[in-house]
Amino acid sequence: MALQLVTGADNKILRTPSKPVGSVTGELRNFALDMIKAMQAEKGIGIAAPQVGRNIRMCICKLNPGEKNEVIVPMVNPVLLDISDETTNKEEGCLSLPGKWGNVDRAKTVLLRYKNLKGQETTLELEDFNARIIQHEIDHLDGVLFIDRTDKVEDHAKDEDGVHI
Ligand code: ZN
Repeated sequence: MALQLVTGADNKILRTPSKPVGSVTGELRNFALDMIKAMQAEKGIGIAAPQVGRNIRMCICKLNPGEKNEVIVPMVNPVLLDISDETTNKEEGCLSLPGKWGNVDRAKTVLLRYKNLKGQETTLELEDFNARIIQHEIDHLDGVLFIDRTDKVEDHAKDEDGVHI
């Protein structure tokens, strides 16, 4: 069955910090595939488990979105090992907050560790927009929404450049 997105700034699931995943099971892998379908259906470039109603620490990131080397990466228990002092400021939208946009400061570069769907630990350095995506997703796993990190939330329909994370 297709997963339903949960939405709203005050939604209890979105606001609850998620629990670490114990082990990577077949059930988890199937859930990850359903999350990818939900993300693609909404043309998102990232999605976290709480956004489809489960408070577990798993997310999907579409890295290098729109580029030749675009790749969809499921991440279990993602942790930021290091983040740069240097930041970038760009507009973000969110599948959980339709029609809302805001500029958010994020670290320009992050060092990330996660488990893939085979249960293998992977370390990855991401920068610029890819770094922004994973910071947005880890926020979701901590019950934080981008509107908490911006001083101005704008309401408008999705524009050409707008992407939901
Ligand atoms: Zn989001």
